[in-house]
Amino acid sequence: MDIPGMPRLTVVVPAYNESAVLAAFHERLSKVLDQLPLDCDVLYIDDGSRDDTWTIMQSLATADPRVGTLKLSRNFGKEAALTAGLDHVDADAAVVIDADLQDPPELIPQLVEQWRAGYDVVYATRSARAGETGFKRFTASAFYRAMEIMSDVAVPRDTGDFRLLSRRALAALSQLRERQRFMKGLFAWIGYRQTAVKYMRDPRLAGKTKWNYWRLTQLAIEGITSFSSAPLKLATWTGLAASVLAFLFGLKVLLKALLHGDPVPGYPSLMVVVLFLGGIQLLALGVIGEYLGRNYNETKQRPLYFIEEEHLPATRTT
Ligand code: UDP
Ligand code: MG
Repeated sequence: MDIPGMPRLTVVVPAYNESAVLAAFHERLSKVLDQLPLDCDVLYIDDGSRDDTWTIMQSLATADPRVGTLKLSRNFGKEAALTAGLDHVDADAAVVIDADLQDPPELIPQLVEQWRAGYDVVYATRSARAGETGFKRFTASAFYRAMEIMSDVAVPRDTGDFRLLSRRALAALSQLRERQRFMKGLFAWIGYRQTAVKYMRDPRLAGKTKWNYWRLTQLAIEGITSFSSAPLKLATWTGLAASVLAFLFGLKVLLKALLHGDPVPGYPSLMVVVLFLGGIQLLALGVIGEYLGRNYNETKQRPLYFIEEEHLPATRTT
């Protein structure tokens, strides 16, 4: 299939402990890639898996010359694994897809179609979330709403990392080397012509999700602090409002004491004010701390990942 002049596409697949689905995933993906009028290859990134994901990747590479593999030196998290993969793409476009078959590979032709029509970022938007609880759906939608209100970039709703990136979008993304990587936000931030393709999101085929509410909360904080300083302003405004209220309340207390004397010391009101202000102060400190911590991480300028082993696809000429 190595016709000169044919556009090249690399599919980037981060995987962490995905031995249960990887073979099934590759089979479905291959069927799709076989149909595409493109010179395709696949790059699997083993994000420091503790099961035999890496062995399976090696056997996939042996069986299929289009397969390349990267092994990170430890588990760096999906964002870093993705970045490692995208850094190794030299094709005309890249598709980012999860290994657990929640993103249907069958959608890739539609993504490619939009790319051929001139779009730089084609993201897949899920129109239904099968196999997820109502509470998960609610929290996800609340998060997108909060992001929309607070940040300067509109992160598209109900969109995961499943998307296609053109060469110039890839080049732009590779310049964003921040350590705190909220990928959905970064994809949106680079701009260029972006469009959506709708699909139904399936429950994962096997294995279990690495996300729990703790990690999702961290991701939400990540998203907001990476793209918005609104919480800092909110802290300022809340502080200001609380001081104005406290001042008015102080005036009232003073007037009352002047007019009627002070027969009973105001223990309850004192407690209320002290606790309220104490709470606000701790909250504001916490918000500052979140930003400060991120600042600290960025200033260390550490690399985003380390590669232990690297086998680029045999079909790749460069
Ligand atoms: N993943 C990864 N490193 C991690 C966690 C996840 O490379 O530390 C990969 C995982 O193998 C899968 C994709 O990222 O291909 C999405 O992970 P998961 O299915 O756990 O997330 P969800 O679909 O629930 O958002
Ligand atoms: Mg998944």
